Amino acid sequence: VTDTFTPAKRSSVMRAIKGKDTKPEMIVRSLAHELGYRFRLHRRSLPGCPDLVFVKQRKVIFVHGCFWHGHAGCREGRLPRSNVEYWTQKIGRNKQRDSRAVRELRKDGWGVMTMWECQLDDRERIRGRIKRFLGPRG
Ligand SMILES: [Zn+2]
Repeated sequence: VTDTFTPAKRSSVMRAIKGKDTKPEMIVRSLAHELGYRFRLHRRSLPGCPDLVFVKQRKVIFVHGCFWHGHAGCREGRLPRSNVEYWTQKIGRNKQRDSRAVRELRKDGWGVMTMWECQLDDRERIRGRIKRFLGPRG
């Protein structure tokens, strides 16, 4: 099988394969921590096993890799040119699972925010989004 990924995408794919403690998630974690919020990680008991769980605020943040979670309209979310059918189905299933998790969480009264890997370059912007989403630390 030839590698149809660019080096940049390959590294993000490899990061995603490792799963936990990937760099994008670490960026969000460290900002939330700096802002003084307390959170749990990877709650398996919650739909979709959210990356950051803010129990007091009853809110969760997912940090999604653009490729695996099929970020719409994003360069990094584009599928490889080979094995199109395989990737379409695989990424499609991931997206379905993601949206089901969001629905279930919201139904149970959780606030949900999804942050995409490609949006994590601007730390000030991310900081602002986290603060607006979570509100006062209280
Ligand atoms: Zn993206």
